[in-house]
Amino acid sequence: MGHSVGVIASDYIAVGKVDNNSIHGTIQKIRESETDSDYDFLAEMPADDIITRIGEQIVVVADGEQIPVVGIGFPGIIRDGIVLDSPNLQQVKGRDLASDIATYLAGQGIDTQVFIFNDADVLAAGVAATYGYLDRVVRGWYLGVGIGFGRYPQSDGVWEGGHFVVTLDPKEQFCQCGGRGHLEGIMGVRAMRLRFMDMEPEEVFEQARYGDKKCSDFVKLWHRALAAATATSVHVDGPGKFFIFGPNARFVQVGLLDLYLQEMVKMSPLQGSHFEVIKAEDALAIIGAAINAEQATRQVEFKRELTRKVYD
Ligand SMILES: [Zn+2]
Repeated sequence: MGHSVGVIASDYIAVGKVDNNSIHGTIQKIRESETDSDYDFLAEMPADDIITRIGEQIVVVADGEQIPVVGIGFPGIIRDGIVLDSPNLQQVKGRDLASDIATYLAGQGIDTQVFIFNDADVLAAGVAATYGYLDRVVRGWYLGVGIGFGRYPQSDGVWEGGHFVVTLDPKEQFCQCGGRGHLEGIMGVRAMRLRFMDMEPEEVFEQARYGDKKCSDFVKLWHRALAAATATSVHVDGPGKFFIFGPNARFVQVGLLDLYLQEMVKMSPLQGSHFEVIKAEDALAIIGAAINAEQATRQVEFKRELTRKVYD
């Protein structure tokens, strides 16, 4: 029995073998180049190329070993390996990613089961495994091109927290999905580029530090929006720790978020939530993808066993 393989394919592609809740060997990572931003790497790639590039990296990481299961974290709403929607990667909408990648791997001599999960969910699973939280609910925000909301354990539901409505202002219409007032319409990279036509997100946060009024007002709105979406999650799912990952986690001021959240959540049983910014998200996502895939395999086995008992 070989190692499971975990993959994260969101703003870039990273692949690794996973053994006993930790990375085995090195992580294989591809992006446009070391100097370019990771933001648009997959966005501009045709769906067939995305499938091939992911498949190629899995073959490199497998290194001739048979791998029982592959778990892949991918942005969007995923059901049974099919990408139902992915606002920031429209080219894969409707594709059966799990079966396409399994077919590519079979062509390379690797017979394995492939499972696809939401990218933010695999980060939450990675935190659960790495920090010893496999027995509790873990939630996290991924701040990249899009805004992902991750939750562990995997369960039925949609959990598109990036599209929580955080403002009733009808002018707030920068979300890639087309919906008004969404969290991603304020915090996502594309939304920020549309709002500040002549500035990259890095420059907006820098200008805010130098006291530019428009930029510093926006930075407050950016934090208030994340606090509002978190407050919604607290009012639905209870209080707890919220992890923050992704390339734009570097802009987060945790103190400001905590303050805004305290203003928004007042009922005493719902107090006590906190934010924590987490780095090394590649390893966490890869571990989480592999763990979710291992758990999914066991569920498939269990259902098969049950069917056999019923019909025998
Ligand atoms: Zn949206």
